[in-house]
Order: sequence, then structure tokens, then C-alpha cells
Amino acid sequence: MMPETVLDRGTTQVVGSESPRMPVVLADLSTGERTVALYASDMPARYRTTDHTQVAAWVLQGVERVGLDEVRRRAAFDAGYRLLARGGHVTPQLTASQEQRFPKAGRLNCADRHAANLNLWVQMSEETRARNGSAAVDGDCPCGGTRSIPLWRDEDATVSRMCPVHAQNAIRAMRPAVDA
Ligand SMILES: [Zn+2]
Repeated sequence: MMPETVLDRGTTQVVGSESPRMPVVLADLSTGERTVALYASDMPARYRTTDHTQVAAWVLQGVERVGLDEVRRRAAFDAGYRLLARGGHVTPQLTASQEQRFPKAGRLNCADRHAANLNLWVQMSEETRARNGSAAVDGDCPCGGTRSIPLWRDEDATVSRMCPVHAQNAIRAMRPAVDA
């Protein structure tokens, strides 16, 4: 059964009622978490423009199915995989884990698009926004825990880059602050 959805544009909160002890508030779900929940929901795999209340209901359904902790875990691994992939640092092991988590690439893409659109309607809380994109690696990171990925080396020099996952906080701290 779909969780009951209450949408209040004033407070931009959508509350699922599947658990009276710990209601899931959409504003407390990051973009990645919304994507993971959509992937696990009844959302059709072919993208089409959908009313945001329906998309919100799918998100809550996905959280109900998978559990909030697992949604957060998968979202962190997905974010980590995407960060490493952007730099060309994924390994076959990491790709296998990602494909096991999300066997249908088209469905993940569809969930991405719905999650991005939903952000326009139901914003994240400040706290959620601060951790949006938090990443983890499901397996052996190419940085080997050193926070630094070697790109190239010879007798005299080593060129490496900061691990986009394990040095994420340091990288974020170097970026100039952007006011929304
Ligand atoms: Zn790393």
C-alpha cells in the first residue's frame, strides 16, 4: 500500500505514515536518497513527466520497502561510485557492486530525473543539504585508504590526486562558498 502523503507547500514537508514511531520526512532525504528510494519503488522505468505528489509517494514507498538505513547506505555508495567514475578511477570490483545494487541503468537514470525534479517542489532541510552527496566506497577504494590516488609516477616524482570520496571534506573545504 502506498504511504499516505501529506504535502504542505508552506513547510515543504511530505510525511509518510508507514511508521508512527519514526515518520519519514521528505525534507530529510537527500537527492541521492530520494533516487535510491525511487529506484526501489513502483515508479515505472520509462520516464515521463509525473505530478510531484506521485513522485513523493514513490519515494516514501521506496523508503518503506528498503528501510531508511539501507536507503542511506546505497545512496552513499552510489555517490562514491559516481565520484570515482567521473575521474576514471573505478575498478571492476566497484563496478560489479554498483551493478548489483542497481542492475537497471535506465531505471536509475529515470529515478535521477524524478529526484532532480522533486527537489524543485520539496526542498531539503538545511541539515540534509549539508550532507547531500556524502559518499562512501563499497569495496577497495583506489586510494587504498591513503586519501590520495596516484595518477602517474616515475623515479623523481609522483603525481596524485585527492580521493574524491575519502578526501571529500577536504575538497569541499577548498571550494569557495556558494550562496544559493
Ligand atoms: Zn578513497
